[in-house]
Amino acid sequence: MTKEELWQAVLAQTQLTISQANFATWFKDTGIFSYKEGEILISVPNSFAKEWLENKYGKTIFKILYSLDKEIKEVKYTVGKTELKILKRVPTSLPDTGQLEFEEFKIDKETNLNPRYTFENFVVGPFNELAQAAAEAVSKKPGLVYNPLFIYGGVGLGKTHLLQAIGNAVIKNFSQKKVKYIPAEKFTAGVVSSIRNHDMEGFKTKYRTIDVLILDDVQFLAGKEKTQEEFFHTFNSLYESGKQIILSSDRPPKAIPALTERLRSRFEGGMIGDISYPDYETRIAILKTKGQEKEVNFPEEVLDYIASNIQRNIRELEGALNRLLAYQKINNQIPNLETAKSLLRNLFLSPNKVANPKKIIQAVSEFYDLKEKDIFSLSRKKEVVRPRQIAMFLFREELKSSYPFIGRKFGGKDHTTAIYACAKITKELEINENLNNEINLIRQRIFSG
Ligand code: ADP
Ligand code: MG
Repeated sequence: MTKEELWQAVLAQTQLTISQANFATWFKDTGIFSYKEGEILISVPNSFAKEWLENKYGKTIFKILYSLDKEIKEVKYTVGKTELKILKRVPTSLPDTGQLEFEEFKIDKETNLNPRYTFENFVVGPFNELAQAAAEAVSKKPGLVYNPLFIYGGVGLGKTHLLQAIGNAVIKNFSQKKVKYIPAEKFTAGVVSSIRNHDMEGFKTKYRTIDVLILDDVQFLAGKEKTQEEFFHTFNSLYESGKQIILSSDRPPKAIPALTERLRSRFEGGMIGDISYPDYETRIAILKTKGQEKEVNFPEEVLDYIASNIQRNIRELEGALNRLLAYQKINNQIPNLETAKSLLRNLFLSPNKVANPKKIIQAVSEFYDLKEKDIFSLSRKKEVVRPRQIAMFLFREELKSSYPFIGRKFGGKDHTTAIYACAKITKELEINENLNNEINLIRQRIFSG
C-alpha cells in the first residue's frame, strides 16, 4: 500500500467508530506526510488537531495502520507540513463517498436537519417496513396520526436516517411548520445550562413554539431526572396543542432503565415501531443503491461478500463500501473479489463463519437429500414440511430474518406460518435430542461452507 492508500484506509475505518461531526472536525486536511523506516509522520492542519489526534485517536490510528502494515513501529504527528504537491493530488477527504464529504456543513442550523437523509434514499425491507410506513404517515399528517411516534432499534440500523427523513419531508410539504431535530444528549445539555443560567423560561419558550419535535436516542435521558421532568412538561404542552413528537431509542420504552413512569407511559401512548436486522436481500439492495448513487457498479460477488459478512449494521455496510469506493477513486479501477477481500478482511471479524440464505438452503437440502426447489414448494409431504420448517427456523436464528420475510421467501406464505414453524422447532428442540443433533450438524455445514 502507498501512504495515500494507507491513510484512506485509516479514514474509512475511523469513520466507522466516531461520530460524523468528530470525524469532520479532527480528520479534515490530514494526511501521511512521510513513511520512513517504520515511522509514519502524519500531517495535521493545526496544533489543536494534533493534540486531539495524538491523545484521543492515537491508539486507534496506530492499531489500524499496524493492522495494514506490520512494519509500522511508530506514528508521529506534525503541524502544517502539507507538502502541497502531493496532498493536492490526494483526496484527503475521500470526495464523493457519502459520509466522508463532511456534509455536516450542510446541516441547517435552525432545524438541525441534514438534507442527505430522505425517504427517497431509504431502502425499505421487511425489517424496517413498519417503522418506515409509520414515519411516512407522520410526515404527511404531522400531529394527526401517530403521536408520539417512537422508533427503536440497534445501532447503525437507520433510526436517525428515518427521523431526519420525517423532518425533511415535513419542511418540504409544510413550509410554515417549525421542525427541530435534537439528539437527547444535546437536549439534556440544554436543560442543564438553562438551569445554571437561570433561564428555564427562555428554554421552555424555545421548545414550545415548535410544531414537530424530533428527539433522537432518548435512552440517554435515563436517570437524568431533572431533564426528564423538563422534557415531560415540554412534551405535554406540545402534545396538548396537537404538535408532533418523534422519538428514537436503542430499545423499547419499557426497557429503558430509570425512565420515570409517567414519561414511559407517555412514550407508550402513541405508535411504537421497531427496526430489526436487515435481511440479506435488503443488504444487497442497500449496497446497490449506494453504489449507484456514486455511479459505481460493483460485481455481484463483491456485494455478496460484503452482505454476507456484515449482517447487523447498515453503517458498517456503508463503511465497507466507502473503502472500496476509495480504492476505485485512487486506482481508477473497480475492485474485484480478491481485491475487495484484501481491502476488507480486517473489517470482518471472522470471515467465512457467517450464514447467508444460500448456505442455509443448501445445507438443509443436502442434509435431508432434497432438491432446493422442494424447500420453497407448497408441498405438504412430511419429508418436505419438516426440513422447510427447520430452514425457516435457521433463517430466524442465524440471519435474524423477520417473520414476514421468511413467510414470503418460503412459498409466499404469510408471517403466521413462519411464526408457527419457528415456534414448533424451538419447542421441540427442548425435548428432542435427535433434532438437536440434526440442527447442529446442519449448522456445521452452514458455517464451514
Ligand atoms: P442509527 O441512528 O440507527 O444508529 P443511522 O440512521 O445513523 O443509524 O444509519 C447509519 C447509516 O446507514 C446512515 O448513513 C444511513 O443513511 C444508512 N442507512 C440506514 N438504514 C438505511 C436504509 N434503510 N436505506 C439506506 N441507508 C440506510
Ligand atoms: Mg442514530
